[in-house]
Amino acid sequence: MAAERGEDDAAFEQRLRPSRLDDFVGQTKVKQQLGLAIAAARARGEAMDHVLLYGPPGLGKTTLAAIVAQELGVEFQATSGPVLQIKGDVTALLSNLEARQVLFLDEVHRLQAQLEEILYSALEDYKLDILIGQGPAARTHVLELQPFTFIAATTRAGLITAPLRSRFGLLLRLQHYEPEELARILDRSARILGVPMDAEGTEILARRCRGTPRIANRLLRRVRDFAEVRAQGRITAAVAADALEMLEIDEYGFDDTDRRLLLALIDKYNGGPVGVGTLAAILAEDPHTVEEVYEPFLLQIGFLDRTPRGRVATALAYQHFKRDPPAAAARLF
Ligand code: ADP
Repeated sequence: MAAERGEDDAAFEQRLRPSRLDDFVGQTKVKQQLGLAIAAARARGEAMDHVLLYGPPGLGKTTLAAIVAQELGVEFQATSGPVLQIKGDVTALLSNLEARQVLFLDEVHRLQAQLEEILYSALEDYKLDILIGQGPAARTHVLELQPFTFIAATTRAGLITAPLRSRFGLLLRLQHYEPEELARILDRSARILGVPMDAEGTEILARRCRGTPRIANRLLRRVRDFAEVRAQGRITAAVAADALEMLEIDEYGFDDTDRRLLLALIDKYNGGPVGVGTLAAILAEDPHTVEEVYEPFLLQIGFLDRTPRGRVATALAYQHFKRDPPAAAARLF
């Protein structure tokens, strides 16, 4: 227990990561498609098709990539777009691949353009063009690579270039989780951590984690601390509710950006419609991030609507923030 206390976020997440496809909760369609691809690759003894996983942070992209390697029985190597700085980083990575292994690249949208180009032929036919020498004497040498499976992840599918996109056999989108699915994830995590938790406590946490397993697990960690100090370690409904109140986590688990987005819509723009560019400017974010990272959850839970003229706050959003909705006639639908 003592060592666990000091454990950092990465180690904590690692401990709670399911390692088999069967233990990965939800995302049924994604799991079906991956399951098929894994079975086919295993049967042929070949590398699996390349996969692009996209969706908001914390929904399980890294976890799924590691599961694919595990299910294929091959090596797993993970890196991320911004870590790769020069051509040599990419060529070293590719030339050291083991046969049929999984190479996972997180934040692929942040990979520099000239590094992305090196990937094209590697993904297409497992070949790498290497320039030897300089100036007029330079020659290109083609290096044969081991066949491998490239799994890339991004929160920003809209930024993936067409040539890169065309090299993936599977393009899989992860969605936010339903409360029942989050309850299963929380139960599993509580079991692993050895924290006793009542069904009602689980349900409260499951509804306040913004549809996101990473947030669910972090909440569990903080509520566990609270329970140990205040309630002999058991997470009951009352303990969960008190802890969340102390942590100032509201009924939907909104973060600061969610709140600012909705309140700007309601208070500054009379509920909308407002263009995504304007919303992005208020949040000091770029429009794609607003669209691909922040909006999906608000749309899914029915707090936000997309109309051809822009975003609008729904009656639910007004209710939640205890604001009176504008008279219907005043709204420019
Ligand atoms: P992403 O790469 O999409 O940001 P991760 O794969 O790092 O997300 O997942 C974040 C955390 O949430 C991990 O600790 C993982 O164990 C947990 N998690 C995500 N999806 C699931 C799931 N479907 N079932 C169980 N745990 C999950």
